Amino acid sequence: MVDLQTQYQRIKADIDAGIQEVIDSAAFIKGPKVAAFQEHLEAYTGAKHVIPVGNGTDALQIALMGLGLKPGDEVITPTFTFIATAEVVALLGLTPVVVDVDWETMNMDIEAVRRAITPRTKAIVPVHLFGQCADMEALMALAKEKHIYVVEDACQAIGATFTFSNGETKQAGTIGDIGCTSFFPSKNLGCYGDGGAIFTNDDALAERMRAIANHGCHVRYHHDEVGVNSRLDSIQAAILDAKLPHLDEYIAARQRAAAYYDSVFSDQNSAISGKLLIPGRQAHSTHVFHQYTLRVVGADRDKLREGLAAAGIPAMIYYPVPLHQQKAYRDPRYKDGDFPVAERLAACVLSLPMHTELDEEQLSYITGNVLKLMIDNC
Ligand SMILES: *Cc1c(COP(=O)(O)O)cnc(C)c1O
Repeated sequence: MVDLQTQYQRIKADIDAGIQEVIDSAAFIKGPKVAAFQEHLEAYTGAKHVIPVGNGTDALQIALMGLGLKPGDEVITPTFTFIATAEVVALLGLTPVVVDVDWETMNMDIEAVRRAITPRTKAIVPVHLFGQCADMEALMALAKEKHIYVVEDACQAIGATFTFSNGETKQAGTIGDIGCTSFFPSKNLGCYGDGGAIFTNDDALAERMRAIANHGCHVRYHHDEVGVNSRLDSIQAAILDAKLPHLDEYIAARQRAAAYYDSVFSDQNSAISGKLLIPGRQAHSTHVFHQYTLRVVGADRDKLREGLAAAGIPAMIYYPVPLHQQKAYRDPRYKDGDFPVAERLAACVLSLPMHTELDEEQLSYITGNVLKLMIDNC
């Protein structure tokens, strides 16, 4: 699915030098590498404040803590996402309220969000799934009208942009009150362990979240509120700082691979036309293709996946079970069939290999096998 070794070999000298510098300085925690990366990421994203943290899940948790939400407050998330989005809501004693997604973009359905809002709704967490923004124009307008916070889960979408009707373009994670991202190794900007960051343009929120990430401490050994311990370590920051200047190239490489997949799978003259749907595009957003996710509607998805595996091609199901059908998140308010689009997606999605190092030979081998298996299969 990913090829992190080849990517490393291309910038090995820079990464190795950065790691060595950290070891030589012994500034392993909150060292100058973390400050440098924070500054460079602020410049790249346009966020006024970047708060480096331990991972993307912590970023989401600290964001919700920073908003001062209380048990019983409702937080709206899409039901078709990675578990972390709802996990932190549940851990904080808040009430997750899930909504269905759009069949084409697989992102949160904003009209469904409107219907799910109650007087207890305090925050909405859109997930920019697979690397393209949710409809942030409609969502921000709705949140403003209802006075509800927006915390973007941009863990899969760093570098994606959304252009508003007034012509303004913003990066994923810098549009809502708070944005969160992850530097998990396979993410679009990945480190060599765990890492994450929070974005905000609000000075007071930034200060509060920085304190929460540091044991709730504004002044050393004085703890004004209950916090957590969540930091990006200096070695990971050095790796990320070496990779950040390449992020735009990495995105372009992913987009080229996606364009290749699109051109093969959207061929109207193909024998499988209409049976394999390419990822739908969100208007006004770029797509940075954390995943390239097909919808298999005219064949057995699991048989296709097995056939690909037999040909040495990994393919993954992101995600096989929507939140409302997860055992730990079963809620009497929801039953099977309540979120038909998410349930249909869970049964038909298939993500193909997607990374920065896919060459034409690999893409041709992958697409050739998909077409052949689809024809044999339907
Ligand atoms: C990866 C991911 C997270 C969590 O990030 P970690 O760094 O693994 O904690 C949260 N939400 C989404 C949508 C993700 O893809």
